[in-house]
Amino acid sequence: MRKEVSKWIKMCTMCQKHRKGKDEKKGLLKLIEAYLLFELMGIDILMNLNEMPNGYKHIIILTNYYIKWPEAFAVKDHLAKTLV
Ligand SMILES: [Zn+2]
Repeated sequence: MRKEVSKWIKMCTMCQKHRKGKDEKKGLLKLIEAYLLFELMGIDILMNLNEMPNGYKHIIILTNYYIKWPEAFAVKDHLAKTLV
């Protein structure tokens, strides 16, 4: 049965048109490159962590992709005025 189905699929032009190749590369990671110091910055926010006694419960991570340097800051909220 399996062989017959496989043979049928190989003969079907519609299946062959939409067939995806075995070596089709999907979702490969690509290198993010920056050529100037502040050309590309990343901002990530880790939210709703366990609140510290002093009220800090989020962490903001800034990454400079040119020098590949991350800096992390604990913050009490993640409002725009806090990030600026
Ligand atoms: Zn078909």
